[in-house]
Amino acid sequence: MIEAIKPEQQNPVAYARTYDSFPPQQPSKKNILRSILVSEKSIELPLNIAPIYQLERHGKYKYFLDLQETEMDLDWVHYQVQDSPIIIGEVIKSRVPIIFRKPVASIAEKWENNSLVLDIEYYAQDFAVCIDPGHGGEQFGSCSPKGLFEKELNLSFAELLQTELENLSIKTVMTRTEDESVSLDERVNFAEEHDAMLFLSIHHNALPDARDPNLERGASSHYYHEQSKPFAKYLLDKITEHTELDFYGLFRQNLHVLRENQDRISVLLELGYLIHPFESELISSPEFQAKTARIVAKAISNFFVEARLAKD
Ligand SMILES: [Zn+2]
Repeated sequence: MIEAIKPEQQNPVAYARTYDSFPPQQPSKKNILRSILVSEKSIELPLNIAPIYQLERHGKYKYFLDLQETEMDLDWVHYQVQDSPIIIGEVIKSRVPIIFRKPVASIAEKWENNSLVLDIEYYAQDFAVCIDPGHGGEQFGSCSPKGLFEKELNLSFAELLQTELENLSIKTVMTRTEDESVSLDERVNFAEEHDAMLFLSIHHNALPDARDPNLERGASSHYYHEQSKPFAKYLLDKITEHTELDFYGLFRQNLHVLRENQDRISVLLELGYLIHPFESELISSPEFQAKTARIVAKAISNFFVEARLAKD
């Protein structure tokens, strides 16, 4: 059914909806899901009749909508706003994965105008960053040609980043503040205890023995969960735009601290190759570290704080 545009309307909007268009002589008792309408704070599923369904919460960033008795013929997902914080994943059987880029506090469901409507309430939590300087103690990480260990460089960079973030009034916590061993589980639990919205692990890269350290250089950004990908990419773009580091790559990687930190944005940053003869000189210089810490802090502030203020 196409709703006609009334001439007296100032800002007419036309909707094309076919869901109540079954001819009365052959009414369908079945629901068929053909499209999903996604806006900033709601998801709308036009259907023939009120569906039987189940909404499962899998943490703050992921839900599954299970429409057991609905036939799936999903042709299009219509995003009604640009950069929607909601992503509809690939539908498998009757299950619709819903991924969020902002933490969800609750979802209210209602049946309205022949649509199942999910109204989303996001968290307005204090924004805290958990900085994770990689390695420490017995775990040295990589080593520069001049004998500088990665664990030291990770910590000195993390300290600079902490100062920069606090200058921007962003709350921080650190998984280690000295040269000590911290297990991967402890790092994840620490972020969880402090309810951090962002977990950022700081590393400097090494290479397997068989590779030529002269050939590989640059910064890389790593993520595992889908909600972390946009920030992982944004951060890497800012670093390669504003520093001498080349773009090495954006990688989805099954690393413990990325995989287990599922209730927040979690990104692991490799700030160049410590093993590369020239790059190690660059990345261990205090000037480079100070400048890059400022760029990372600004990127965090732009992505999480200013973008949110602009939308509210
Ligand atoms: Zn490392």
